[in-house]
Amino acid sequence: MPLYEYYCKRCDGVFEAMGAIRTASAPAPCPVCARKAERIPPTSFAAFTMREGYPRAIPDRGTYWHLEKEVKQPLRGAFRPNEHPELTKPEPPRRASKGEAEIERQKRHAAAKEQKKMLDSGMPAIHDRTGGGGG
Ligand SMILES: [Zn+2]
Repeated sequence: MPLYEYYCKRCDGVFEAMGAIRTASAPAPCPVCARKAERIPPTSFAAFTMREGYPRAIPDRGTYWHLEKEVKQPLRGAFRPNEHPELTKPEPPRRASKGEAEIERQKRHAAAKEQKKMLDSGMPAIHDRTGGGGG
């Protein structure tokens, strides 16, 4: 079931709740005060009470609401607005395993061998040789 965002006016906060498609537009009970909260489109946060520039997520754990996700820290520094270090984690530096490294090595070897074969057989290299031309 999809998650939807809701806004509780009384608690002045955003929360998310599961909803079936048929109840997608129906209000959901606030996790804090149990009142009915209206579903909100994800892009309509502008009018909400902000915590350091972000809608506050409830239940209030001191967290923030960013791009439909609860995050522990607001964006600081030179991040683009659609990026958040907690949500768009950089890929961990990936070391090729021994097997993968071997495959890469063989690929390069095969490519080099292929090129040498082409040169040996008199085929022109892919890059243009100067001085060619019939006449
Ligand atoms: Zn509430």
